[in-house]
Amino acid sequence: MPSYPKDWIRDLVDRKLPWQLTKQMMSEFKDENRFDHYLAVLQERVPWDDAILLPLGEHLFIVQKEGGERVVKCDCGQEFGDYRENWKLEALVYIRDTREKLDEIYPGHRKCDPEWMELREFYCPGCATQLEVEAVTPGYPLIFDFLPDLEVFYRDWLGREL
Ligand SMILES: [Zn+2]
Repeated sequence: MPSYPKDWIRDLVDRKLPWQLTKQMMSEFKDENRFDHYLAVLQERVPWDDAILLPLGEHLFIVQKEGGERVVKCDCGQEFGDYRENWKLEALVYIRDTREKLDEIYPGHRKCDPEWMELREFYCPGCATQLEVEAVTPGYPLIFDFLPDLEVFYRDWLGREL
């Protein structure tokens, strides 16, 4: 099984890995230590020390705090509470539910009907980064994107206990 240098993974995350190397990585079996290199690359970029257990998006992570608590955290340091709860409940929300607000995103012929769809934009209260966008019918419940089984993932996929 191949093992790629951490620098390759860093370049991959930064979208700077040359296409030939990217294609080679895509064509081979996934390297055994990829996840650890990936976490290490992510960890060296954040200004805090809580251990990243799993990324949830480009800016959000599930982290392990010193007391053992596992929370969702933005790369700016903003925390959104227990990872088993929907972090969107702690985010700032901008809802595009009128023709005018939707036209800013879908101008011209690509218009969508506010009777049928609204856009919910979620922002970090700490750094104002847009974290997620939902396109749903009006009144639809907040979508809980992802609830990983961390223990099983670490035990069965990584071969170690959390
Ligand atoms: Zn933030």
